[in-house]
Amino acid sequence: MPRITLITGLQWGDEGKGKFVDFLGDKHDVSIRFNGGNNAGHTVVAKGQTLHMSVMPSAVLRQKLALIAQAVVINPQILIKEIKLVKSLGVKLQLGIDPRCHVVMPYHQLLDSSSEVAKGKAKTGSLKLGIGFCYEDRTNRAGIRVQDLMSRKILEEKLKAVWTLKKKRVEKTYDQEFPLSLTKVLNEYLKYGRTLKPYIMDVASYTIDHLKTQSFLLESAQGFYLDFVFGSYPYTVAYHTVASSALPDIGLPPMELKVMGIVKAYTTRVGNGPFPTELNNFRGQHMRDLGHEYGTVSGRPRRCGWLDLTMIELANKLSGTNQIILTKLDVLSGLKQIKVATKIKKTCRPQYQVFPGWSDDLTSIKSYAKLPPACKNYVEFIENHLGVPIRYVSVGPDRTQTISKPNTKR
Ligand code: GDP
Ligand code: MG
Repeated sequence: MPRITLITGLQWGDEGKGKFVDFLGDKHDVSIRFNGGNNAGHTVVAKGQTLHMSVMPSAVLRQKLALIAQAVVINPQILIKEIKLVKSLGVKLQLGIDPRCHVVMPYHQLLDSSSEVAKGKAKTGSLKLGIGFCYEDRTNRAGIRVQDLMSRKILEEKLKAVWTLKKKRVEKTYDQEFPLSLTKVLNEYLKYGRTLKPYIMDVASYTIDHLKTQSFLLESAQGFYLDFVFGSYPYTVAYHTVASSALPDIGLPPMELKVMGIVKAYTTRVGNGPFPTELNNFRGQHMRDLGHEYGTVSGRPRRCGWLDLTMIELANKLSGTNQIILTKLDVLSGLKQIKVATKIKKTCRPQYQVFPGWSDDLTSIKSYAKLPPACKNYVEFIENHLGVPIRYVSVGPDRTQTISKPNTKR
């Protein structure tokens, strides 16, 4: 049976996927980032270095083959910046980019910002990075793919085919300015193409051909609730984030995956949309301050609240979660009481189970047994309630601040 482990977040993102893709990257031969674009933000902390990345696979520090699958949309400017950053750390980069990946173009960003202005109060809180518009073109067969950046003739032809439409949409529909020049964009993106050329690789074929001989770690860029169908639509991204989407997103036939779902010990959400367990008080501020809950890409303060187990239950059902990783437990230290929502009533009011808190600093604890009893009680309640084993608990951003949970009910 192929050895494939998939890491996904079971909330609204920022659960700590980056940390665990890096952590588990050591135990796998190859890692593959399979969706999203630079709207994602991952932080990896290892050996005194903190690395913020958005398109680069998070396991890149492990100096093994790190792949970008076809369903990732690439802003080449950002990816090239991240390539330089990683190389500047002395990392031996083994990167492969599927030529089918679509390219985020400057007019996608322009359309994104223009449409948010036009929506006024009804805006979705988009980061204005053009990711949704890039996926729109991909679906409508009007996209530019990484392989198109390799040929002046093809890129020019494709740009000419869409240019007037994009310009009219920005100017006439959204009533905004369109300051782009086709020639400038053409030359700039051909240059990016030359820089990315050495990394082009048929990721889909490579993966299929090596399933029997290598182990793979799949990285979802976003949390389950950002899935554009099963998430909290319309406050979602423009594509699937549900675990099973990894198969077509890479180019794999149906097969079984080991799914590790990441759950933050509380809940955060960036941007607008419903959030039944949100705390607009000092407890929410405690989480924001101690958990540094500010967007990696946007810098926006993240909305914070209690853990909502009803969300995780649904996410588990659709993700086929085999094991859970519970992160940021250290952030809850110092709260007198900790609440967990186990039911959401019809009025959207959560029903809570209340637990005593703990005051101990968890960040240098290395074994599960040494965690304060109140903390273990909280962890085990979550595990029992969900009926899915917790494999690791995380007590700090560093790779080493990871505790393996003994085999309780696995
Ligand atoms: P991702 O989007 O799921 O990859 O998560 P992000 O990297 O965007 O956000 C998680 C943040 O929490 C990052 O700054 C991590 O370094 C940090 N982090 C991860 N795990 C822990 C943990 O257990 N405790 C604390 N305090 N921080 C953590
Ligand atoms: Mg993030």
